[in-house]
Formats: sequence, structure tokens, C-alpha cells
Amino acid sequence: MNEQRPSLFDRAKEVLVGGVNSPVRAFGAVGGEPVIIERASGARLFDADGNEYLDFIGSWGAMILGHAHPAVSQAVAEQAAQGTSYGLTSELEIELAETIRSALPSVERIRFVSSGTEAAMSAIRLARGFARRPAILKFEGGYHGHADSFLVQAGSGLATLGIASSAGVPAAFAALTLNAPYNDARAVERIFATRRHEIAAVIVEPVAANMGVVPPEPGFLEGLRELTRRYGALLVFDEVITGFRLAWGGAQNAYRIQPDLTVLGKIIGGGMPVAAYGGRADLMKLMAPEGPVYQAGTLSGNPLAMRAGLATLAELRRPGVYEGLAARTQRLADGLREAAKSAGVAAQINVAGSLLTLFFAAEPVRDYASAKRSDTARFSRFFREMRARGILLPPSQFEALFLSAAHTDADIDRAIAAARESFAALAGA
Ligand SMILES: *Cc1c(COP(=O)(O)O)cnc(C)c1O
Repeated sequence: MNEQRPSLFDRAKEVLVGGVNSPVRAFGAVGGEPVIIERASGARLFDADGNEYLDFIGSWGAMILGHAHPAVSQAVAEQAAQGTSYGLTSELEIELAETIRSALPSVERIRFVSSGTEAAMSAIRLARGFARRPAILKFEGGYHGHADSFLVQAGSGLATLGIASSAGVPAAFAALTLNAPYNDARAVERIFATRRHEIAAVIVEPVAANMGVVPPEPGFLEGLRELTRRYGALLVFDEVITGFRLAWGGAQNAYRIQPDLTVLGKIIGGGMPVAAYGGRADLMKLMAPEGPVYQAGTLSGNPLAMRAGLATLAELRRPGVYEGLAARTQRLADGLREAAKSAGVAAQINVAGSLLTLFFAAEPVRDYASAKRSDTARFSRFFREMRARGILLPPSQFEALFLSAAHTDADIDRAIAAARESFAALAGA
């Protein structure tokens, strides 16, 4: 018997629940030891065992410039020397708010918070305070963070774990969360027809990205805009992923729909814990201190995070960034499609901007029901084959691949070559 030193993950499990601080990091759906990261640079992650990976997780979309971008690192270092938290307002918050409003004009007033969960939860509280109605309507497979109201038929980690809803959410709360199938405005209309006086808001990911990537079909978002207006409910776009990723102006400008409220996160913090909610000034002024809806935060508007966000948005504003991201994502999609086809593997590849999901499914994926028909066992084998070749995919069929501006054509071609070998291994198995 050779005595083995406990792995870092064994150590982690002794002190962290499941060895992680967020469930999907445990790699439960794909098997194998989760990676434990030592450092990251550009499109690459380096783990504690000395492995190098081409990263398609990108911190779940936050790292759109790639890791340790010099401009972002420098901004954070400079700010650290000026103080890391004031608990009072600084000009940096004004500047980031102005930048966001210039990109998303529907966001007339904004409130910074520390996580997407907090932002979505607060936006819903505001909607309920405004409409004086108790219920919200979301979509099956949509994810809006882990606040009680959202953990009903939710995507992301819940989809991965195969749990419809979370324990610990009282039935009385869950009853106030209505669900409709994504891409089905008529289902939304039927729900409004019977429960019009109960629904404060419809919250939607304008491009669903937490059941895998599912773009909106023509007319879906327009339908939601029209129905919410007709029935006096607010339309909330959760752009935590799509904001500053799909386009500089987010999905709302790409699809030309003005929501009443917008939830942002991930990219706007440049890898630091920042999120925000904002929208029409007449709605936002219902928030404390101007109005009666309460929400506060010790670290809200944190200066280190504001600097990281400002530096990130300044880079994204340069001409050609989004065109480059979209072109390389299309290159990946084309390569994967061709590789799957020649290996005889049934695959659906959904793309929106720099978001991509390869579903192991025979039929098009347009909602949560069709996403769930994917062969998840096949996905996990594919994940492990890719990992063995130095390509790190998100460890779940129901999470998007995120490209960054640091991914080169050569990186994409390497990923395609690895996929070709991985598909062949699946077909041979
Ligand atoms: C990640 C995500 C959230 C939650 O953000 P956290 O910062 O993880 O709390 C909310 N909505 C969407 C669409 C997300 O992708």
C-alpha cells in the first residue's frame, strides 16, 4: 500500500461544503475531481496539479477580456493603494453608472450591489412595491440567482443537479412564482388572462443562458413587452450574462426592446463582486432613500470593483471587440458542427454572440423541455475527453460556453481538433 497524501480537494471537503463554494464547481454532473485553480492568464487556467487548460468557463462569463488583463489588473492595483472600501460614495460609482447608462439608455437610474442574486432579488422587490401585486412570472430553466422567489423550476445549478426547486423555500413563497415555457408568449398570455391582478413582473433572460444557450425566437421578447404593458406588470430583463456580452448595449439593444428594469452583473465588475439593477427613473425612485422600498449594502459600489468594471468596459468599447468575439464563436460553432456530423454524433449547437452550447440532442433546443432531452451522460463523457486534451468546458450540459477576447483563432482550432478526437472516442465507446 502506498500512502497517498490527501489531495487538495480532499482537504477542501473537510472544510467547505462539497469542497466548493458554489455547487457546479464540484463537477458532480461530469465526474472526476474538480479542478482547483492556482492562477489564470488570458484564455488559460493553471491548476494546482500543474495542468494547463484552455478556459471556456470564463468565470461564468465575467472574464470577457480573459484573465488578468493588464488594464484591469493595473486599475485594481492602483485602487488598492487608495483604499479598498469606503462605505461612502466615490466618483467611481458615478462614472460606472454613467458608462452603463450610455450603453443601456433604459437604465436611467442604477443601484450597485455585490451579486447578481442580490440585484435580481431587489429588482423583484421593487416591482412588487410598485405594482402592489405579490406574484412574479419567470421561465422554466431561467436562472436569476438563488433568492427564494427564483428557485422554482430554475436553471443553472438546479438544472445540473436535476432538482426542480430548492428545499427551504416555503410553499407560500414558491406559490408566488409562476413559470411559463421559454419562447412561448402565448403561455404567458394565458397566465395573465387568469391571474392579471396578481403578477407584478415578468423576469426573463433575453437570451436564456442557464439551461444552455437558447436564443429568443422572433416575436417572443416583443410579445412579453406587449403583454406586460397590457396587464400593468413590469418587464425585467435579467442581463447578468448578456449585458456587455451580446453587444455593448446588451440584449435590449441587440433586440431593440426596452425593459422597465434591467439586472446586470458578471462583466460589469470585471471579475470583482459587482452587480446592479436599474431602469426607469420613476420606478427607481421608489427605492430607499427616495422611496419606501428598502435595500442596502455595506460593500455596494466598492471602489476596487468599480475600478475593475470601468477598466473592463473601457476595453470593450474599443472598435471591433464584439465583432471579433462573434466571429471566433461562429468559427467554433462551425467547427464543432462539422466535427459532430462527421463522427455521426447527434448535436444541436446554439449560438448567441459569444455564448455557445453544444446540446447532445437530436432535435432543436428552444426551451427547457427540449434542453432536458439532451443526453447528459454523453455530455459528461465528452467533457472528460475534452478535459484530458486540455480544454475546460463548463461542467454541465446546461451551462453556456463563454468566449473571451483573449481566445485566438489558433485556440479555437485547437478546441475543434480536440472535439474531433473526443467525438471519435464517444462514437467508438
Ligand atoms: C449568474 C446569474 C445570476 C446570479 O448572479 P450571482 O452573482 O451568481 O448571484 C443571475 N442571473 C443570471 C442570468 C445569471 O447568469
